[in-house]
This record gives sequence, structure tokens and C-alpha cells, in this order.
Amino acid sequence: MSSCESNPTNRKKVIILGSGGAGLTAAIYAARADLLPLIIDGTQPGGQLMITSDVENYPGFENPILGPELMDAMRKQAARFETKFVNGTVTKVDFSKRPFKVEVDGKNVYESHTIIVATGASAKLLGLPAEIMGKGVSACATCDGFFFKGQDLVVVGGGDTALEEATYLTKFASKVTIVHRRDELRASKAMQKKAFENPKIDFVWDSAVEEILDVKADKVTGVRMKNLKTGKVSEISCGGVFIAIGHQPNTDVFRGQLELEPNGYIVTKKSSMETSVPGVFAAGDVQDHVYRQAVTACGTGCMAAIDAERYLHTLE
Ligand code: NDP
Repeated sequence: MSSCESNPTNRKKVIILGSGGAGLTAAIYAARADLLPLIIDGTQPGGQLMITSDVENYPGFENPILGPELMDAMRKQAARFETKFVNGTVTKVDFSKRPFKVEVDGKNVYESHTIIVATGASAKLLGLPAEIMGKGVSACATCDGFFFKGQDLVVVGGGDTALEEATYLTKFASKVTIVHRRDELRASKAMQKKAFENPKIDFVWDSAVEEILDVKADKVTGVRMKNLKTGKVSEISCGGVFIAIGHQPNTDVFRGQLELEPNGYIVTKKSSMETSVPGVFAAGDVQDHVYRQAVTACGTGCMAAIDAERYLHTLE
């Protein structure tokens, strides 16, 4: 942290990095414990639930609730208990000694005796040359589905996200083809049932998308696929491609500061949310590649806030 000096008023007891379910729940708990938490919003305030449509498995809601509505309620709840929000992205951290330092947008530096990392995860891409977001390629059906009214669409992936995206897209599309690299879906049985019963959804099995056609012409006209068992190459026409092949944790800024698993997720200690640095805790998808549910993210946010509060007591 050489370039920016911290303003003394920027020193906090708890700073939470990320404002998805994990971060906001941590804030609600920390705020109710009078710790006056500060949240650094991150690149996508509200996290991945902001790009989710109907949430049917978050307890407490008899009927589906839209992801953005759920996050709005959580944010208001956190604000009601005096959580402060900073709109910006963490560009550098120094966890080598307390107070820990967090630089936001390369400008302001904040200090805190505890940190809760809840920066979440982001959608993975296929790595194709023409995979430019916008112009017919997307990783978010809720954000972009509306633009594809009456068109045929392709969704890549075989997990819950792919099936959820495909199901959502049938509201707008004439047909949705799910291209999956195996002949068996990873998605939950409930999601599979919904997708199989949807007359607008088709499947192409054992196939990888090799090329998205005509992105260079500023639009998508189809995809070229290879059957991984037979080697046969085929094309289908479509007006848009939605990539839904999983996520990667947003941990680049913590490399060298916190212990990470080989796949980039933050390592937390057994039965706690503490990271390799005492006083720094992690919650939500940034440390969980197994469950990755809204409710588990919120649960770990709660745990991290309780851990942070107890850690602050040990300092006193
Ligand atoms: P997953 O990791 O579960 O699934 C990713 C899918 O993409 C897999 O089918 C995988 O294939 C495929 N894939 C991965 N890499 C590639 C690649 N390079 N090329 C082609 N295909 C690829 O991720 P999801 O985002 O679907 O789900 C993540 C978690 O979130 C899960 O725990 C899921 O249950 C949860 N979730 C829950 C929802 C709900 O309950 N409403 C909604 C959405 C997600 P393969 O199967 O061969 O590995």
C-alpha cells in the first residue's frame, strides 16, 4: 500500500468485501452487534442473485421471489442497522499486519481490525475467440433474455444454472437448445424434471461448442458443435448463445495474502470461517465450491460475522 495513505476516519472494526448474500448477512449480524460494519460493494453490488430470476429455495418465501428483490430486502435490512456502503472495487489488500488495509478503486484506503471476504464467484467462459459478451453472447439470461424475443437460442452447460437459464429463456425464445458435453446432466433432479417437461427445450448431448458463428458480423447466427463421442461436426442456427458452465472465485486480489486452494477458492479453517490470517474471515461462494446456494452463502456470512465479533473480543 505505498501510493495511498489511509484517512484515520477510515479505520473500522469490520470491513466486509462484497455485497451479495454472504456479505449482507455478515453486515446484518455485525451491525446488530454494534460493530458499525462497512461494506465495499464490489463490481456487482448484490452479487449473483442480482442476475437470478425466480428463487424458489430460499426459506421463508412460500412463493418464488426474484433474486434482485431478495437482495434489495437484505441490503435495506443491513442499512437499517447502520451498515455503511462504499460503491467501489477492492484493488489491493495488505493483510500482513493489523490494522488490515484495503484499497478501493486504486484511491481510498480503509483500515480494519477484522475483514470478512465475501467477494463471491463469477461466470466461467468457454474461451472461444468469438466469445464476446453482448452482441448475442451472454452469461445472464435474466439480464439479456428479453432481447431475444421469438428467437432460437443455445444454452451451454449441464448444471442447475444451465437448466435454470434455459427454462427462464423459454419465456422469450421460440426454442432453447441445451448443448452439454456429456449424456448425463449435473443439475438437480427437480431442475431436470422442469426442463424435460418444457416443450420449448431440446438437448444436444455429448457435444462441445467449437465456434460461435458470425460474432464478427456483430451478431450470432448459430453455433458449430462437435460430438465428442463420434467426432461429427454439426451446426445449428440460433440468435443468441448463453454460457452457463460454472463459476470461478473472485480471489485474484488475495493471491499471496491468503491461502487459496489450487482452484483459487479461499481456504477456511474447519468449524470456522477464519482464513490463513487470524482476523480475516471468508464467507459465501469465494470459499465454497461445493454447496454454493443462496442460503449457505448467507449462513456462512452469519458465521463469519460471529467469528469476527469473537475475534475482536480477544483483542480487547
Ligand atoms: P456446475 O459446476 O454445477 O455445472 C457446470 C456445468 O457446465 C456442468 O454440467 C459441466 O459439465 C459444464 N461445463 C463446465 N466447464 C465446461 C466447459 N469448458 N465446456 C462445456 N461445459 C462445461 O455449475 P452451475 O453454475 O450450474 O451450478 C453451481 C452451483 O450452484 C451448483 O451447486 C448448483 O446446484 C447451484 N445452483 C442452484 C440453483 C438452484 O438451486 N436454483 C440455480 C443455479 C445454480 P460436466 O457436468 O460434464 O462437468
